[in-house]
Amino acid sequence: MAYAKLSGALLVRKDAPIAETVSVPRVTAAPTTREGDGLLARHLKSLKLPTFLSQYQRVAQQYASEGLDPSGYLLRLAEAELIERERQLIDRRVKQARFPAAKNLDSFDFAAVPSLEKNLVLELARCEYIARQENVIAIGELGIGKTHIAIGLGMAACRKGLSVGFITAISLIRELLEARDEQRLLRLQRRLAGYKLLIIDELAYVPLSTAGAELLFDVVSQRYERGSTIITSNLPLDEWSEVLGSQQLASAVLDRLTHHVHILDMRGENYRLRQSKRPQPQRHGDGAGRGKRIEPDAGRR
Ligand code: ADP
Ligand code: MG
Repeated sequence: MAYAKLSGALLVRKDAPIAETVSVPRVTAAPTTREGDGLLARHLKSLKLPTFLSQYQRVAQQYASEGLDPSGYLLRLAEAELIERERQLIDRRVKQARFPAAKNLDSFDFAAVPSLEKNLVLELARCEYIARQENVIAIGELGIGKTHIAIGLGMAACRKGLSVGFITAISLIRELLEARDEQRLLRLQRRLAGYKLLIIDELAYVPLSTAGAELLFDVVSQRYERGSTIITSNLPLDEWSEVLGSQQLASAVLDRLTHHVHILDMRGENYRLRQSKRPQPQRHGDGAGRGKRIEPDAGRR
């Protein structure tokens, strides 16, 4: 129907008697397509709906050309907006976690570590233990896949939108000592306590200084029943006193950690070593690609 614009807020149908003039809010005045697009773009930006903005024309065209019920149009756009936000959140979580490599559980060869309960790992990947603030300790020799499993569980938590931190025990203690010396220990401790999941990798046989061991204990106790902690170590629990410097401190750390804990028992042969002992497939061709290392998870993040 044709409308004539009387003033900014008044519209009148061209063929209507003057008494039938209708008053409508300025924003609903029928603008030209180009004006409308510009306005809509501005509104969608203010509303922080970038996916609506980037997709509404394409989705509208699709609905028009396929004769779809237009009531589904907004739903489609709202879903697209939510999916995009979720994707961005996961990306942010993965970046914030600072994983040392891109690993996923689906590239882990469970058959190589028969002592590891696959079902337990898959259950942990559902992240319900994080809601219950339970901890995980993975114990096994070097190269058995502890870090791989820990990153895989960390990635699973990121995919649920949970905040994750990954750090080696050595770096954690170095950062804590530095923060203490620079009078910003409290801030760091607050950040460490805030992660839904903190992964402390490689609590290995390097005796810690008393101050370092105490700071590690503080982290564990500040996280107690607040968040989940995953620790990987090549030492059985009864040898942690050698790293932590005293039986008393080791007992205190283990008391906090093992109140609600899942132990991942990883025994077996170093995975890479075992792979290298296997007969290698014969190489063909001119050798192109020789020397290239192919990571099973490369590019999956
Ligand atoms: P750890 O932390 O126990 O020393 P890593 O997790 O660093 O061992 O494993 C060393 C390398 O071997 C990594 O590249 C890891 O992805 C790979 N790896 C180890 N175990 C497995 C496995 N069972 N399946 C697939 N890859 C594995
Ligand atoms: Mg490791």
